[in-house]
Amino acid sequence: MIIQLKKDIQPNQRLDLEQGLNQLKIEFYPVVTQMGTYFICTPKQEFDIRKIGYFKGISDVHRVTGNHKMVSNKWKVENTIIDCGDGVLIGDNNLAVMAGPCSIESEEQINDTVESLIKNGVRIMRGGVYKPRTSPYSFRGLGMEGLKMFYEACNKNGIKIITEVMESGQIEDMMPYVDIFQVGARNAQNFNLLEALGEIDKPVLLKRGISGTIDELLYSAEYVFKSGNEKLILCERGIRTFESAYRNTLDLNAVPILKEKSHLPVVVDPSHGIGIRKHVIQMALASAAVGADGLLIETHKTPEKAATDGQQTLSFKEFDELMLKLKQLKTIL
Ligand code: PEP
Ligand code: MN
Repeated sequence: MIIQLKKDIQPNQRLDLEQGLNQLKIEFYPVVTQMGTYFICTPKQEFDIRKIGYFKGISDVHRVTGNHKMVSNKWKVENTIIDCGDGVLIGDNNLAVMAGPCSIESEEQINDTVESLIKNGVRIMRGGVYKPRTSPYSFRGLGMEGLKMFYEACNKNGIKIITEVMESGQIEDMMPYVDIFQVGARNAQNFNLLEALGEIDKPVLLKRGISGTIDELLYSAEYVFKSGNEKLILCERGIRTFESAYRNTLDLNAVPILKEKSHLPVVVDPSHGIGIRKHVIQMALASAAVGADGLLIETHKTPEKAATDGQQTLSFKEFDELMLKLKQLKTIL
């Protein structure tokens, strides 16, 4: 059960409610976000919801059965739209494309990418400056220096930035330069990081864990929400299965299932999802066809020379082709 408090609830009304819940032996967790205040209740046994409804200072009481509460659409029926500022929206029924290199490499690379995005009307650029790498000897990203360069070029062109944050200690420094914080697959269950991202007022894109279930992805989102941040985007990026013909198994089933369970926008990353450049366009189109709210795509002027993930990165020409095909697809969806 979720009890939504009125914005102007009086301290004595809140106390009455808390005492009432205690008397009814209903455990509750107060949640304060940038949008409102809620009490999340996990009653051990069935009880009459009307016993709560008469308390003053409540705007709504929602019966939410099941494991997920705040991220569930059982209480929030309308879909969440993420506002990244300057008219850049995710989840508004248009496909939000976020594209750019796996890793930020140089000023020239950023400018080339910005040009390719502008040409295609894309408003969000991706690019990692802190890279989680399987081998500690691989390129790990340009860090804050790279992020500042990234910001410089994007800011003057009205392009928003999505980039990965790997640990809570990085958030504060990154904050002025980032529009959407990405939590990578390897950090999907880093609960300290998730809670720290709950304390900021910026959108967070959560990737599904490498072997994560849909349920676990929703729980990760619940962590951020419960810590105070409602601006969440879910991302399917493929999971590890016994199949070895491609990098990951892009689970497009997750899109309708997540959208059936949650009010949060769902984005697909077909680049990591299949990991093979020549198949990324098809899987991106399939993602759009299955109802994704957005796409996260790796692009590079010269993918074969990319510092990371070149094998799954589209050239700018291939990206143009994808954008054209997405437009054609939209006419029949
Ligand atoms: C990335 O987006 O470049 C990345 C590292 O993704 P993931 O966390 O899905 O592997
Ligand atoms: Mn990558």
